[in-house]
Amino acid sequence: MINSSENLQRLIKELENLPGVGRKSAGRLAYHIANAPKEKIESLVNAINIVRDNIKKCKICFCLSDDDICNICSNENRNKKQIMVVENERDMIAYENVGEYKGVYHILGGALSPLLGIGPNELKIKELMARLSADVEEVILATNSSVEGETTATYLMKLIKPLNIKVSRIASGVPVGGDIENVDEVTLLRALNGRLVL
Ligand code: ZN
Repeated sequence: MINSSENLQRLIKELENLPGVGRKSAGRLAYHIANAPKEKIESLVNAINIVRDNIKKCKICFCLSDDDICNICSNENRNKKQIMVVENERDMIAYENVGEYKGVYHILGGALSPLLGIGPNELKIKELMARLSADVEEVILATNSSVEGETTATYLMKLIKPLNIKVSRIASGVPVGGDIENVDEVTLLRALNGRLVL
C-alpha cells in the first residue's frame, strides 16, 4: 500500500502482524488512529501497556488473569469438582460465553503434536494430574476435534481413568477438524450436554 507517510506505513505494518488483521483492515485501523483524538489513542496505548505489564497466568488453571488466581477459580459458586480441559483460553472463553457451564477449567496450552515436537512435557499435563489429587468428580475433555485434539484426549483419558475419576469427552457437534472457538454457542452447549463418559 502506497501512502504519503512513512510513519503511517510503519503503523500499518505493525497492525498487519496482529492475528486476523489483513492488509485492508490494517490500513483502516491506521487511518482511524491517525485521525482520532489524542486522548482516545492514549487510553488505547495505556490499556495495551497495562495488559503487557500486569497480566499473569492463574496458578491453578493457567488462564490469563490479573491476579495469581483467576476469577473463575476463586469464585465460590463454581464447582471445583468438575474440570473442563481445553487447549487454550479462547476455547475457555467460548464455553464461558455459553454461560451454562458451572465447573472450572484447565488450560493445556496446546495439543499433542509429534510433528511440531509438542509432547506431554510441553503441555500443562503434570499440573492437571496434580489437581486431580484433590476431590475431583469429573474431567471433561474439551480439546478440539482435530487429530491433535483427539490424540490429546485419548492420552489424557488413559492417564486419568485409573484414578477412578469420571472422564468424559464433548460430543460430536463440534465439526471434525473444527476449532472450538469458531463454533456457535448452541452447538457448544449441545456438545457439552451430550458428552460421552469414556
Ligand atoms: Zn484459574
